[in-house]
Amino acid sequence: MSLLFQSAPVSLPITGAGDRFAVRRIYCVGRNYVTHIREMKEGDERDPPFFFQKPTDAVVESGSAVPYPPATSDLQFEVELVVAIGEGGRDIAVADALGHVFGYAVGIDLTRRDLQVEARAMQRPWEPGKAFDHSAPCGPIVPAAVIPAPLAATIVLEVNEETRQVASTAEMIWNVPEIIANLSAAYALSPGDLIFTGTPAGVGPVVPGDTIAARIDGLAPLTITIVEGT
Ligand code: MN
Repeated sequence: MSLLFQSAPVSLPITGAGDRFAVRRIYCVGRNYVTHIREMKEGDERDPPFFFQKPTDAVVESGSAVPYPPATSDLQFEVELVVAIGEGGRDIAVADALGHVFGYAVGIDLTRRDLQVEARAMQRPWEPGKAFDHSAPCGPIVPAAVIPAPLAATIVLEVNEETRQVASTAEMIWNVPEIIANLSAAYALSPGDLIFTGTPAGVGPVVPGDTIAARIDGLAPLTITIVEGT
């Protein structure tokens, strides 16, 4: 028996290594910085963060051209710290969580904001706004052995060399160990899982021709260019 329609495995480069990180699932945290909850004019700031997913093949490597997606006129950037899981588990304790991390990267949670807001208003799932082709640009993964958990690192996003988002990962409502503990209470984590950990304030639209550069202290930068959709 042979597999029909087998797609290529999705993977990301690992800094300082010839190996690549095979991606299994992409989890994302929503509402993890108070400043972003406020700019989105969402309800109660005390509501806890939550999780959603993107398709694995939405991963885009640094240096890539990202086609402007269909069905939107408001494509927006969200710079995020990405956690790469190296050891799986369920019900992982906060105190043990960092032991499950393979490494860290800079990611951009690309969002069709108009579709996300429409879904929210109609109490429908977020997928059309969040889980589309090319929606998960992610930089090279820096092993945790090289850089310890960047729990208080400056996180920056520039569009055409103009700063649009700047914050510290210390502002996260759930920090990295708490995210892993909460996520693993609902899903069995496995090696290869990526977790986008939420964005601070300053999100905004991009158009074809824009170059987006995202950085977190100590990690490999992520740069993409938006091009006309095909
Ligand atoms: Mn996000």
